[in-house]
Amino acid sequence: MRQSQLFPKTRKEAPKDAESVNHKLLVRGGFIDQLMAGSWTLLPLGWRVVTKINQIIREEMNNVGGQEMLMPLLHPKSIWGETGRWGSSEENPLGAKEIMYQFQDSRGKEYALSFTHEEIVMDLLRKNITSYADLPVYVYHFSTKFRNEPRAKSGILRGREFMMKDAYSAHTSEKDLMDYYEKMKIAYAKIFKRLGFKIRITEASGGVFTTNHTHEFQVVALTGEDTIYICDKCEWGLNQEIFKGKEGDSCPSCKKGKIQKAKSIEVGNIFPLGTWYAERMRVYYTDKDGKKKPVWFGSYGIGPTRVMGTLVEVSHDEKGIIWNKTISPFDVHLVELKTENLKLKTEEIYNKLRGAGIDVLWDDREVPAGEKFADSDLIGIPVRLVVSAKTKDKIEWKERISNKVEILSLEEVVKRCKKE
Ligand code: ATP
Ligand code: MG
Repeated sequence: MRQSQLFPKTRKEAPKDAESVNHKLLVRGGFIDQLMAGSWTLLPLGWRVVTKINQIIREEMNNVGGQEMLMPLLHPKSIWGETGRWGSSEENPLGAKEIMYQFQDSRGKEYALSFTHEEIVMDLLRKNITSYADLPVYVYHFSTKFRNEPRAKSGILRGREFMMKDAYSAHTSEKDLMDYYEKMKIAYAKIFKRLGFKIRITEASGGVFTTNHTHEFQVVALTGEDTIYICDKCEWGLNQEIFKGKEGDSCPSCKKGKIQKAKSIEVGNIFPLGTWYAERMRVYYTDKDGKKKPVWFGSYGIGPTRVMGTLVEVSHDEKGIIWNKTISPFDVHLVELKTENLKLKTEEIYNKLRGAGIDVLWDDREVPAGEKFADSDLIGIPVRLVVSAKTKDKIEWKERISNKVEILSLEEVVKRCKKE
């Protein structure tokens, strides 16, 4: 991609109302644009990052048998009435009126915009499941979620409209559900490791989804909105909402460590929902003994747009974003410092790299070197290649995370990029 054609340009100043780092840097770098509080466009650079995040999630979902599909976002009131989640939390312990966007069309028919899809999957199951032989079922989709978030402040971390991968599993028994739940926990740990995060898994309440405990995937970050208690020696961790002790207590699990309090960002959450949904929506299957039994159900969410924002929160410096190579919008940033007769034609380098399967952003603009370098640091692609009169028939290689500059031949550059 030629940077002269990239939409939009970078910006020197962050928006005045931007409070969080992800908001400032992602807007300045041209990754996202805010339409109103909690509502964002993923611009071409941001969409590249989210597409890469989604692909990693997709691969790991498919590895545990997930089948990708796509469900609607406009839902009739009636389906939410079946579980009582249309109502408020005063009427029903899982009532979700406060978070759902509910409205009427011009004929007075009531609808909601999707804030999750348990009810929709349950409806699919009751139309398609009859016997134990039809189970288990593992399905997922990537789609927009709408939530009436009272505070939509932390940049793209908290949208009123945002992207989610949500997976759903249906089983014949609690044991089968819990075995799969553990598999999902491992799949989630893999996903976040591949995305470049250090993750803490904490136990938490189920919010408007279940009265059971759930597991959250948390990234420790000073700017996080969640508070978790974690052991300094083992993996033990609880969300503040269900923690009864205090900081400094000894760990109830390993007994050796001390409990620490930390701020964190929740990037994923898995829910062992049980039979609550099946009982209310009459989703039964016939077991081997001929008896009708309710389906056991679980759901599993990750927010790819929040993941992108979280990476920026934990990986940046005063100059800009520092992407890791897994989710960077491009593999390398080729920066051409224009002079009369460059020994090595930048276009040749560009074509050779692309021919080798390397994704290149080529800064071919007629702007001063200082501006090019500042933009390169702001956008944060892990490798910067500079071609100038000074580099003669070689190329300068510099990584975003270091100050070391190396002079390499084109062949060496290609080899290194492929190995990376
Ligand atoms: P929070 O407690 O932060 O409001 P939640 O627990 O209500 O989030 P879940 O229903 O567990 O969210 O959603 C699953 C995942 O979707 C979350 O782990 C997060 O990655 C993402 N997510 C949830 N709400 C938002 C939001 N408003 N904006 C962006 N991503 C979100
Ligand atoms: Mg959650």
